[in-house]
Amino acid sequence: MRDFWFRIGAPVAAIALFALLLWGVFSVTAALLFTLLALLIVMARHVRQLSRLERWLHDARLETIPEAGGIWDDVFSHLYKMVKQHQQTRQELAAELQHIEQATAALPEGVAILNESNRIEWCNPLAQQHFDLDAEHDFMQDITYLVRQPEFIGYLHASNFSEPLVMRPARHDDMVLSIKLIPYGANKRLLISRDITQLERIEAMRRDFVANVSHELRTPLTVVSGFVENLQDMRDINNDDARRALHLMAEQTRRMDNLVADLLTLSRLENDQNPPREELVDMHALLNEIYQEGLLLDGNKHVLRLDVLSGLKLRGNREELRSAFGNLLGNAIRYTPEGGEISLCWAERDGQSVFSVRDSGIGIAPQHIPRLTERFYRVDRSRSRETGGTGLGLAIVKHIAIRHHAKLEISSEQGKGSVFSLVFQATGD
Ligand code: ADP
Repeated sequence: MRDFWFRIGAPVAAIALFALLLWGVFSVTAALLFTLLALLIVMARHVRQLSRLERWLHDARLETIPEAGGIWDDVFSHLYKMVKQHQQTRQELAAELQHIEQATAALPEGVAILNESNRIEWCNPLAQQHFDLDAEHDFMQDITYLVRQPEFIGYLHASNFSEPLVMRPARHDDMVLSIKLIPYGANKRLLISRDITQLERIEAMRRDFVANVSHELRTPLTVVSGFVENLQDMRDINNDDARRALHLMAEQTRRMDNLVADLLTLSRLENDQNPPREELVDMHALLNEIYQEGLLLDGNKHVLRLDVLSGLKLRGNREELRSAFGNLLGNAIRYTPEGGEISLCWAERDGQSVFSVRDSGIGIAPQHIPRLTERFYRVDRSRSRETGGTGLGLAIVKHIAIRHHAKLEISSEQGKGSVFSLVFQATGD
C-alpha cells in the first residue's frame, strides 16, 4: 500500500518541486503553465492505460494482458495473478465435474435431477436410455411431457415415495423399470431408474411354475380323493387298521386339496396384472353371509358377533373381498380357544372404511407380526396344520388388499388376542 502511494505521489511531488523552481527562477505563470502541462501528460497516460484495461476486460485472457509501466504495471500484474488463479480453479472444478460425470455414467442405474417443476436439469446416459431422452434437446424440459404414462405422472405427483414404481417404458415395452424418486435440497428430486427386466422374468417364471405345478396336481388329487371316499363308503371293509388308514388318507388328501386350492388362488392373484373387476359391494349383505358361514364353521365353539357400524358400500371385487374377509374370520376361529369371543366389524375411521376381525385368542408375539403375510410363515407349524391351515391365508389376504389399494393392519398381544383390519382408502356410496 505504501508503495502504491509512493508511486502515485512521487510524480506529483516532482512536478510540484519543479514548478516551485520555475516560480523562483522565472515567474508564477511559467510555473502554472508547467504544472498544467505536466498534469495533462500524467492524466493522458492514465486514460490510455484505462482504455487498454477496458478493452482487455472485454476478453480477459492471460495471453493478451497489456504491459505497462508505473502503477499500471502493478494493476496488470495483480489482474494477471487473479485471472491465472481463476483459470486454475475453473480447470480443477471442470476436472472434478468430469470425474463425477464419469462416476455417474458408470452407475448401473439411471440418474436424473429434476427441479421443483419436474424439469430435467441433468441426467446420466442410462437415464437417457431408459426414458428415451436426448441430453441436449431435452435439457430443462418437463419430464411429464416426455414420459407420459399415467402411472409415472401419478407417482411423480404423489407425496410418498417409499415404494418404487414398476413400469414399462413406452418405447421399450420389453423392458421393466423400477423407479424411485428421492427428494433432496430445496425442492430438487433425484429420479433413479433400475432395469429389472431380468428379475421380473425370473419372478414370472417362478409364478408360472407354481401355477403349473398346482394345476397339474389338481387332477390326480381329485382322482385319489374320489377313490378314498369310495373306499370309505364300502361297508365290507371291516379291518380297523384299514379304516384308520383310509381316514388318515382322506384327511391328508383334504389338506393337499386345500393347499392346491390356496396355491391356485394366490397364483391367480399374482398373475392377474389387471385391476380387479369392480362393483359396488353391499357390505351389509356380504358381511351377513360371511357371519353365517362363520357360525357354521365355528359350530358354537366361540361367541361370534357382527357389528355393522357403517352404511358405506365398498367399490371392489365381491369374490376377492369375500375370500379375504373369510380368511381372516377363519383364522380367528382357528387361533381362539373354545369359549373365546370373536367380533366382525365394519366401520368408518378418519374418512376410511375399516373391516376388522377381533379375537380373544392366543395372540402373536411382536417379532412374528411383520412376517405373517409371507407364504408359509407360521408362528406354530403344528397348530396351523392341526387346524387345517395351509400357511397361505394371510398371503392371499395381503394380495387382495394390494389389489384394492387397502392396507392390512395387525395388532396383537400374546395370550390376549388379535385384531386384523383391512383399511380401505376409497369408499363407494
Ligand atoms: P395358516 O394357514 O397357518 O393359518 P395364515 O397365512 O392364515 O396361515 O396365517 C399365518 C400365521 O399367522 C398362522 O400360522 C398363525 O401363526 C398366525 N395367525 C394368523 N391369524 C391369527 C390369529 N387370529 N391369531 C393368532 N395367530 C394368527
